[in-house]
Amino acid sequence: MKTASKTSIPFTLPALPWKENALAPIISANTLSFHYGKHHKSYVDNLNRLVAGTALSELSLEQLMKHTAHAPERRVVFNNAAQAWNHAFFWRSLRPYGGGRPVGALKTKIEKDFGNYEAFEEQFLRVATGQFGSGWAWLVLDGNELRIVGTANADTPMAVGKSCLLVIDVWEHAYYLDYQNRRADYVVAVISRLLDWDFASEQFALAEVEQLIP
Ligand code: FE
Repeated sequence: MKTASKTSIPFTLPALPWKENALAPIISANTLSFHYGKHHKSYVDNLNRLVAGTALSELSLEQLMKHTAHAPERRVVFNNAAQAWNHAFFWRSLRPYGGGRPVGALKTKIEKDFGNYEAFEEQFLRVATGQFGSGWAWLVLDGNELRIVGTANADTPMAVGKSCLLVIDVWEHAYYLDYQNRRADYVVAVISRLLDWDFASEQFALAEVEQLIP
């Protein structure tokens, strides 16, 4: 995310991991052209404007978020930084022909912490559809336990020390063009047909390694 030169733009919009039409019909190219090309880009552009010429521009995106998460006077900076990070993480949580079931160590851990896959899926759907207003639904490793958490607006478990494995964007801009007000239909479709369990497994393995480092 960060470039070597102090005079260049410090934060950049990461490329999508697939083509804009690759998630259709679950998420259309039209939605992605606005969601990625307008919304996500705006967060990155706003962030660069806000931190231009300040010491904050020297930080990585992750450092910046942790630094501003508890600073009310930096709320606008945090919101744009977190939205830049959250969206990049959301794109990586999805893939064409995704969904299905987790495998390996993550499958075992989900069955241990939720009882079975169906209970996990039910809770993910409930948190995602129940999040009031704009926000996100996350699968996180919190300490040694997998949990589903909802966050409002730009808030993100990453900034408060949780390890994120998957996320679903439930802001209206994520689904309104394709599903209008039917958020549950969007969430069910994303869970069953787009979640990238290989990515989640990679994040789970990384989180377990991080826990071993004091
Ligand atoms: Fe979004």
